[in-house]
Amino acid sequence: MIKSIIFTDLDGTLLDENYSFRMAEGALVLIENRRIPLVICSSKTRAEIELYRRRLNNKHPFIAENGGGVFVPRGYFPVDADLSGFTLIADAGYQVIRLGTGYAELRRAMQELRHEGFEVKGFGDMSVEEVSQLTGLSPDEATASKERDFDEPFLFQGNRVQLPFLYQAIRKKGLRFTEGRLLHVLGESDKGKAVALLSALYQAKYGEIITIGIGDSPNDIPMLKSVDYPIIVKHPDGTFDSRIHLGWVIKADGVGPEGWNKAVIEIMSCLGTV
Ligand SMILES: [Mg+2]
Repeated sequence: MIKSIIFTDLDGTLLDENYSFRMAEGALVLIENRRIPLVICSSKTRAEIELYRRRLNNKHPFIAENGGGVFVPRGYFPVDADLSGFTLIADAGYQVIRLGTGYAELRRAMQELRHEGFEVKGFGDMSVEEVSQLTGLSPDEATASKERDFDEPFLFQGNRVQLPFLYQAIRKKGLRFTEGRLLHVLGESDKGKAVALLSALYQAKYGEIITIGIGDSPNDIPMLKSVDYPIIVKHPDGTFDSRIHLGWVIKADGVGPEGWNKAVIEIMSCLGTV
């Protein structure tokens, strides 16, 4: 049977508003039994994703900070993959591929934006308590969320009318922005480029593969465009994100992990009979 690979967002997708994946447990057991790799693809940092990999008992590669970094456990692919042409970061446990702009540059951009009159406040400007209050993360998780390398989440506290000007100012610096739960500034990296890179490595390992991507917000669009089966789940208010426009997308019948559970079980039963 052709190998399926699932790429998933965390916040609002596999995790609900309380950062719980309990509602998706049925599908998680199913894909574990079928040995289907589950690749986390999130705006969260390496340290945060490692917490969830432990909770999920997940040993697969992962994509951090909106595609800024790809982490492949050493020995995961039969021979360490040929990654010539990519920027690799020295690390004992993983092959780390850097696709994103360094954090120092993003922090400089935040300061410049403030000087230009935009009321922006990044995670780097906030204490652990502030991040915890803003996101509902525990103090430990908030600490992990501040250990950033490639992407800066930020609050915009000015008038929304200024937003197009803010985005223009970010673009002028050669940077980009995206939206998940919060606004983010980042470099040329995105979730799609990271998914394409890992898909090529899986293809080299397994031959033909089928890729599935699950998300909920605009920062997932590049990932959803890079997979064979794009799936979106509902927001807590019961609607799908109106900012996601794709040629075709599977709309899961449920909010966050509940939709995730239903869609994965359904697609597995379809693919299982192919
Ligand atoms: Mg999300």
